[in-house]
Amino acid sequence: MKRIIILCTFMLILIQGANIEAAQSITVENPKTQIKAGKSYTYKAVLDTGEDITWSVSNKNKAMITQNGKFTAKKAGKVVITASCGDISESIRVTIKPKKIVAIDAGHQARGDSSTEPIGPGSSVKKAKVAAGTSGVVTKVPEYKLTLAVAKKLKKELVNRGYKVMMIRKSNDVNISNKERALKANRTSDICIRLHADGIGNSSVAGASALYPSKSNKYVGKLSSKCQRLSEAVLSEMCNSSGARKRGLSQRDDLTGTNWSTIPVTLIEMGFMTNPEEDRKMQTESYQKKLAEGMAEGVERYFEGKN
Ligand SMILES: [Zn+2]
Repeated sequence: MKRIIILCTFMLILIQGANIEAAQSITVENPKTQIKAGKSYTYKAVLDTGEDITWSVSNKNKAMITQNGKFTAKKAGKVVITASCGDISESIRVTIKPKKIVAIDAGHQARGDSSTEPIGPGSSVKKAKVAAGTSGVVTKVPEYKLTLAVAKKLKKELVNRGYKVMMIRKSNDVNISNKERALKANRTSDICIRLHADGIGNSSVAGASALYPSKSNKYVGKLSSKCQRLSEAVLSEMCNSSGARKRGLSQRDDLTGTNWSTIPVTLIEMGFMTNPEEDRKMQTESYQKKLAEGMAEGVERYFEGKN
């Protein structure tokens, strides 16, 4: 009998213990649910028993969290943060907002479009909707393939750095005029990078340059200094990382895709496809990656405002 009583009392304690266990909960104080890529926030969780809490994040690619609850957002998107202790846990859904939105316009397309459009809002001057572009003197690869290949790599670099990317075109078989490209970028993005490569009759000419509108540009003159700062940052960093010769910045007021812009824009001439050495280099994966890394670094520099 005595044994049974002891056993029953013991079981009662066990049951009560289980009830206490079930009643326990983790409370996360001030659970932030939105945070910008590149930023950190320290979450604080409280457990009634004062036991240690373990932190985890659903996607380590997008964000990280330390065991002190310090969360760092890396890429835009959604993640779930979980504070746990044994069987109990508390989760918070967090939206990571992009640092900024970058439009990437891979210049040209499989077939040019010679029908015309005004070179700027209200202009009577018209130019072809999309020019054919140049091609590699040795590799024979057309410019539109090179620009899209680098655009895809640049997208990856920017996404890894916490930006959202708007690709003006994702394939070669499209027909989007330069004006339409600018309008698409205006609607969605904070800045626009137009990717091109150069061609010229003299095969010894090599190097990279950036084109931006002058202050007296009738359509985008007001954006000239921002475009200049963006051009300088992107071109310098691209030349630093790739070793391309830096030809410098040029003012151009006859570019449709730039003139229709309402956001800071730069047109990057990545190199000369008519120069045998530069043509070959630009067709290698490693060189394209260096170009993309440098340009992404330039975007960071532009937004950080250090020039
Ligand atoms: Zn071009």
